[in-house]
Amino acid sequence: DLSGKTAIVTGSTSGIGKAIAGQLAHAGANVMINGFGDPAEISRIIKDLSAASGQTILYSPADMRKSDEIKMLVDQTTASLGAVDILINNAGIQYVSPLEDFPPEQWDAILDINLTSSFHTTRLCLGAMKRAGWGRVVNIASAHSTVASPYKSAYVAAKHGLLGLTKTVALECATDGVTVNAVSPGYVLTDLVVRQIPDTAKARGLTEEAVKNDVMLASQPTKKFVAAEDIAKSVLFLCSSSADNITGANLAIDGGWTAH
Ligand code: NAD
Repeated sequence: DLSGKTAIVTGSTSGIGKAIAGQLAHAGANVMINGFGDPAEISRIIKDLSAASGQTILYSPADMRKSDEIKMLVDQTTASLGAVDILINNAGIQYVSPLEDFPPEQWDAILDINLTSSFHTTRLCLGAMKRAGWGRVVNIASAHSTVASPYKSAYVAAKHGLLGLTKTVALECATDGVTVNAVSPGYVLTDLVVRQIPDTAKARGLTEEAVKNDVMLASQPTKKFVAAEDIAKSVLFLCSSSADNITGANLAIDGGWTAH
Protein backbone atom coordinates (compact mmCIF):
# COMPACT_ATOMS: atom_id res chain seq x y z
CA ASP A 1 0.00 0.00 0.00
CA LEU A 2 1.62 3.23 -1.15
CA SER A 3 -1.10 5.59 0.13
CA GLY A 4 0.23 9.06 0.82
CA LYS A 5 3.53 8.40 -0.92
CA THR A 6 4.98 10.70 -3.56
CA ALA A 7 6.58 9.14 -6.63
CA ILE A 8 8.56 10.44 -9.60
CA VAL A 9 8.80 8.25 -12.70
CA THR A 10 11.14 9.71 -15.32
CA GLY A 11 10.29 8.98 -18.95
CA SER A 12 6.73 7.91 -18.16
CA THR A 13 4.85 9.26 -21.18
CA SER A 14 5.37 5.94 -22.96
CA GLY A 15 6.27 2.27 -22.64
CA ILE A 16 7.67 0.85 -19.40
CA GLY A 17 7.60 4.15 -17.49
CA LYS A 18 3.93 4.67 -18.28
CA ALA A 19 3.14 1.16 -17.00
CA ILE A 20 5.13 1.83 -13.80
CA ALA A 21 3.33 5.14 -13.18
CA GLY A 22 0.05 3.22 -13.54
CA GLN A 23 1.02 0.52 -11.03
CA LEU A 24 2.26 3.05 -8.45
CA ALA A 25 -0.86 5.21 -8.77
CA HIS A 26 -3.15 2.19 -8.45
CA ALA A 27 -1.28 1.26 -5.26
CA GLY A 28 -2.10 4.71 -3.84
CA ALA A 29 0.86 6.93 -4.69
CA ASN A 30 0.58 10.41 -6.14
CA VAL A 31 2.77 10.44 -9.22
CA MET A 32 4.78 13.02 -11.13
CA ILE A 33 5.10 11.80 -14.67
CA ASN A 34 7.74 13.07 -17.09
CA GLY A 35 8.86 12.65 -20.67
CA PHE A 36 8.34 13.95 -24.15
CA GLY A 37 5.45 13.53 -26.55
CA ASP A 38 2.36 15.05 -28.10
CA PRO A 39 0.77 17.45 -25.52
CA ALA A 40 -2.74 16.14 -26.25
CA GLU A 41 -1.59 12.55 -25.69
CA ILE A 42 0.16 13.51 -22.44
CA SER A 43 -3.00 15.30 -21.18
CA ARG A 44 -4.98 12.16 -21.97
CA ILE A 45 -2.52 9.97 -20.02
CA ILE A 46 -2.80 12.26 -16.97
CA LYS A 47 -6.60 12.46 -17.16
CA ASP A 48 -7.06 8.70 -17.62
CA LEU A 49 -4.63 7.74 -14.85
CA SER A 50 -6.01 10.19 -12.29
CA ALA A 51 -9.57 9.05 -13.07
CA ALA A 52 -8.68 5.35 -12.89
CA SER A 53 -6.55 5.57 -9.72
CA GLY A 54 -8.12 8.48 -7.83
CA GLN A 55 -4.60 9.83 -7.20
CA THR A 56 -3.04 13.16 -8.08
CA ILE A 57 -1.07 12.82 -11.31
CA LEU A 58 1.09 15.74 -12.39
CA TYR A 59 3.43 16.22 -15.32
CA SER A 60 6.87 17.77 -15.73
CA PRO A 61 8.47 18.22 -19.17
CA ALA A 62 12.00 18.24 -17.63
CA ASP A 63 14.68 17.12 -20.10
CA MET A 64 16.83 14.42 -18.47
CA ARG A 65 19.87 15.79 -20.32
CA LYS A 66 19.73 18.98 -18.27
CA SER A 67 20.65 19.10 -14.59
CA ASP A 68 18.81 22.43 -14.03
CA GLU A 69 15.58 20.95 -15.43
CA ILE A 70 16.04 17.84 -13.25
CA LYS A 71 16.29 20.12 -10.22
CA MET A 72 13.06 21.83 -11.30
CA LEU A 73 11.38 18.41 -11.60
CA VAL A 74 12.30 17.49 -8.02
CA ASP A 75 11.48 20.97 -6.62
CA GLN A 76 8.12 21.06 -8.41
CA THR A 77 7.24 17.57 -7.17
CA THR A 78 8.17 18.39 -3.59
CA ALA A 79 6.21 21.66 -3.66
CA SER A 80 3.06 20.16 -5.15
CA LEU A 81 2.98 16.54 -3.87
CA GLY A 82 5.35 16.55 -0.88
CA ALA A 83 8.85 15.12 -0.41
CA VAL A 84 9.74 12.35 -2.83
CA ASP A 85 9.44 8.84 -1.32
CA ILE A 86 9.78 6.80 -4.50
CA LEU A 87 12.10 7.60 -7.39
CA ILE A 88 11.96 5.51 -10.55
CA ASN A 89 14.79 6.35 -12.95
CA ASN A 90 13.39 5.03 -16.20
CA ALA A 91 13.99 7.58 -19.00
CA GLY A 92 16.21 6.09 -21.64
CA ILE A 93 17.10 6.20 -25.30
CA GLN A 94 18.95 3.87 -27.67
CA TYR A 95 21.19 4.33 -30.70
CA VAL A 96 22.52 1.46 -32.80
CA SER A 97 25.71 1.82 -34.84
CA PRO A 98 29.18 0.30 -35.19
CA LEU A 99 31.62 2.12 -32.91
CA GLU A 100 33.67 3.80 -35.67
CA ASP A 101 30.51 5.44 -37.02
CA PHE A 102 28.92 6.12 -33.63
CA PRO A 103 28.05 9.86 -33.56
CA PRO A 104 29.74 11.45 -30.52
CA GLU A 105 26.61 13.52 -29.86
CA GLN A 106 24.57 10.29 -29.59
CA TRP A 107 27.14 8.90 -27.14
CA ASP A 108 26.76 12.05 -25.01
CA ALA A 109 22.96 11.99 -25.15
CA ILE A 110 22.78 8.31 -24.13
CA LEU A 111 25.23 8.74 -21.25
CA ASP A 112 23.38 11.87 -20.06
CA ILE A 113 19.86 10.40 -20.21
CA ASN A 114 20.50 6.73 -19.38
CA LEU A 115 23.10 7.28 -16.64
CA THR A 116 23.89 10.83 -15.48
CA SER A 117 20.23 11.86 -15.04
CA SER A 118 19.92 9.16 -12.35
CA PHE A 119 22.88 10.66 -10.48
CA HIS A 120 21.10 14.01 -10.47
CA THR A 121 17.62 12.79 -9.52
CA THR A 122 19.00 10.50 -6.80
CA ARG A 123 21.33 13.18 -5.43
CA LEU A 124 18.35 15.53 -5.09
CA CYS A 125 15.86 13.03 -3.57
CA LEU A 126 18.02 11.00 -1.20
CA GLY A 127 18.22 13.52 1.66
CA ALA A 128 14.44 13.67 2.12
CA MET A 129 14.17 9.87 1.95
CA LYS A 130 16.84 9.48 4.65
CA ARG A 131 15.13 12.08 6.85
CA ALA A 132 11.81 10.22 6.43
CA GLY A 133 13.55 6.92 7.29
CA TRP A 134 11.93 5.34 4.23
CA GLY A 135 12.58 5.54 0.54
CA ARG A 136 12.75 3.58 -2.67
CA VAL A 137 14.93 4.13 -5.70
CA VAL A 138 14.44 1.77 -8.64
CA ASN A 139 16.69 2.19 -11.66
CA ILE A 140 15.40 0.68 -14.88
CA ALA A 141 18.59 -0.84 -16.26
CA SER A 142 18.58 -3.62 -18.87
CA ALA A 143 19.93 -7.06 -19.66
CA HIS A 144 22.63 -4.81 -21.13
CA SER A 145 23.64 -3.86 -17.58
CA THR A 146 25.47 -7.21 -17.36
CA VAL A 147 25.98 -8.45 -20.94
CA ALA A 148 26.78 -6.70 -24.22
CA SER A 149 25.48 -6.76 -27.79
CA PRO A 150 27.41 -5.36 -30.73
CA TYR A 151 26.57 -1.87 -32.06
CA LYS A 152 25.15 -0.63 -28.74
CA SER A 153 28.35 0.70 -27.14
CA ALA A 154 26.87 3.78 -25.48
CA TYR A 155 23.77 2.00 -24.21
CA VAL A 156 25.72 -0.96 -22.81
CA ALA A 157 28.28 1.36 -21.18
CA ALA A 158 25.53 3.53 -19.66
CA LYS A 159 23.52 0.57 -18.34
CA HIS A 160 26.61 -1.10 -16.83
CA GLY A 161 27.30 2.28 -15.22
CA LEU A 162 23.73 2.54 -13.92
CA LEU A 163 24.14 -0.82 -12.18
CA GLY A 164 27.36 0.45 -10.57
CA LEU A 165 25.54 3.58 -9.38
CA THR A 166 22.69 1.42 -8.02
CA LYS A 167 25.02 -0.76 -5.94
CA THR A 168 27.03 2.19 -4.62
CA VAL A 169 24.03 4.24 -3.50
CA ALA A 170 22.46 1.12 -1.96
CA LEU A 171 25.52 0.78 0.28
CA GLU A 172 25.51 4.48 1.14
CA CYS A 173 21.94 4.39 2.51
CA ALA A 174 21.70 0.79 3.70
CA THR A 175 20.97 1.76 7.32
CA ASP A 176 18.53 4.56 6.46
CA GLY A 177 15.44 2.57 5.43
CA VAL A 178 16.11 3.48 1.81
CA THR A 179 16.53 0.69 -0.74
CA VAL A 180 18.13 1.16 -4.14
CA ASN A 181 17.70 -1.54 -6.78
CA ALA A 182 17.91 -2.11 -10.50
CA VAL A 183 15.37 -3.91 -12.66
CA SER A 184 16.78 -5.31 -15.88
CA PRO A 185 14.31 -6.04 -18.65
CA GLY A 186 15.00 -8.09 -21.72
CA TYR A 187 13.23 -7.01 -24.91
CA VAL A 188 9.91 -5.25 -24.35
CA LEU A 189 8.12 -4.18 -27.53
CA THR A 190 7.93 -0.44 -26.73
CA ASP A 191 8.63 2.54 -29.01
CA LEU A 192 12.31 2.33 -28.02
CA VAL A 193 12.61 -1.18 -29.44
CA VAL A 194 10.36 -0.64 -32.46
CA ARG A 195 12.50 2.37 -33.45
CA GLN A 196 15.80 0.43 -33.41
CA ILE A 197 14.60 -2.39 -35.68
CA PRO A 198 15.37 -0.57 -38.98
CA ASP A 199 18.87 0.50 -37.79
CA THR A 200 19.72 -2.95 -36.52
CA ALA A 201 18.52 -4.39 -39.84
CA LYS A 202 20.85 -1.99 -41.65
CA ALA A 203 23.85 -2.61 -39.36
CA ARG A 204 23.50 -6.39 -39.69
CA GLY A 205 22.22 -6.57 -43.28
CA LEU A 206 18.99 -8.33 -42.27
CA THR A 207 15.26 -7.84 -42.86
CA GLU A 208 13.27 -6.23 -40.06
CA GLU A 209 11.38 -9.47 -39.43
CA ALA A 210 14.70 -11.32 -39.09
CA VAL A 211 15.91 -8.71 -36.56
CA LYS A 212 12.84 -9.38 -34.38
CA ASN A 213 12.93 -13.15 -34.57
CA ASP A 214 16.60 -14.00 -35.08
CA VAL A 215 18.41 -11.17 -33.25
CA MET A 216 16.13 -9.92 -30.47
CA LEU A 217 14.24 -13.06 -29.57
CA ALA A 218 17.34 -15.16 -30.23
CA SER A 219 18.66 -13.68 -26.98
CA GLN A 220 15.49 -14.56 -25.08
CA PRO A 221 15.10 -18.30 -24.36
CA THR A 222 11.34 -17.85 -23.80
CA LYS A 223 11.08 -16.54 -27.43
CA LYS A 224 8.62 -13.94 -26.23
CA PHE A 225 8.85 -10.21 -25.70
CA VAL A 226 8.50 -9.20 -22.02
CA ALA A 227 5.33 -7.20 -21.21
CA ALA A 228 5.76 -3.66 -19.85
CA GLU A 229 3.18 -4.52 -17.16
CA ASP A 230 5.42 -7.36 -15.91
CA ILE A 231 8.25 -4.90 -15.39
CA ALA A 232 5.88 -2.47 -13.64
CA LYS A 233 4.60 -5.14 -11.23
CA SER A 234 8.14 -6.03 -10.19
CA VAL A 235 8.90 -2.37 -9.59
CA LEU A 236 5.79 -2.17 -7.42
CA PHE A 237 7.02 -5.20 -5.44
CA LEU A 238 10.40 -3.53 -4.86
CA CYS A 239 8.51 -0.48 -3.54
CA SER A 240 6.51 -2.61 -1.07
CA SER A 241 7.43 -3.48 2.53
CA SER A 242 7.96 -7.11 1.44
CA ALA A 243 11.13 -5.87 -0.25
CA ASP A 244 12.57 -4.05 2.81
CA ASN A 245 15.67 -6.28 2.74
CA ILE A 246 16.29 -6.18 -0.98
CA THR A 247 18.85 -3.51 -1.78
CA GLY A 248 21.69 -3.24 -4.26
CA ALA A 249 20.07 -6.02 -6.29
CA ASN A 250 19.61 -6.35 -10.03
CA LEU A 251 16.34 -8.11 -10.86
CA ALA A 252 16.48 -9.69 -14.31
CA ILE A 253 13.12 -9.85 -16.12
CA ASP A 254 14.51 -11.04 -19.40
CA GLY A 255 12.96 -14.39 -20.29
CA GLY A 256 16.21 -16.15 -19.40
CA TRP A 257 18.48 -13.99 -21.59
CA THR A 258 21.25 -13.49 -19.02
CA ALA A 259 21.15 -17.14 -17.92
CA HIS A 260 23.30 -18.06 -20.91
P1 NAD B 1 10.11 4.37 -24.65
O1 NAD B 1 10.82 5.01 -25.78
O2 NAD B 1 8.76 3.78 -24.87
O3 NAD B 1 10.02 5.39 -23.41
C1 NAD B 1 11.09 6.22 -23.06
C2 NAD B 1 10.56 7.37 -22.24
O4 NAD B 1 11.65 8.24 -21.92
C3 NAD B 1 9.53 8.23 -22.98
O5 NAD B 1 8.56 8.68 -22.06
C4 NAD B 1 10.37 9.39 -23.49
O6 NAD B 1 9.62 10.58 -23.74
C5 NAD B 1 11.31 9.56 -22.32
N1 NAD B 1 12.51 10.32 -22.64
C6 NAD B 1 13.38 10.14 -23.67
N2 NAD B 1 14.33 11.09 -23.63
C7 NAD B 1 14.06 11.86 -22.55
C8 NAD B 1 14.68 13.01 -21.99
N3 NAD B 1 15.77 13.57 -22.53
N4 NAD B 1 14.12 13.56 -20.88
C9 NAD B 1 13.00 13.04 -20.33
N5 NAD B 1 12.38 11.94 -20.83
C10 NAD B 1 12.91 11.38 -21.92
O7 NAD B 1 11.13 3.28 -24.10
P2 NAD B 1 10.97 2.07 -23.04
O8 NAD B 1 11.29 0.83 -23.77
O9 NAD B 1 9.71 2.16 -22.26
O10 NAD B 1 12.24 2.38 -22.12
C11 NAD B 1 12.15 2.72 -20.76
C12 NAD B 1 13.42 2.28 -20.05
O11 NAD B 1 13.51 0.85 -20.11
C13 NAD B 1 14.71 2.81 -20.69
O12 NAD B 1 15.63 3.17 -19.68
C14 NAD B 1 15.22 1.62 -21.46
O13 NAD B 1 16.62 1.66 -21.64
C15 NAD B 1 14.79 0.49 -20.56
N6 NAD B 1 14.75 -0.82 -21.23
C16 NAD B 1 13.89 -1.04 -22.26
C17 NAD B 1 13.89 -2.28 -22.86
C18 NAD B 1 12.96 -2.61 -24.00
O14 NAD B 1 13.13 -3.68 -24.59
N7 NAD B 1 12.01 -1.77 -24.35
C19 NAD B 1 14.76 -3.28 -22.43
C20 NAD B 1 15.62 -3.01 -21.39
C21 NAD B 1 15.59 -1.77 -20.79
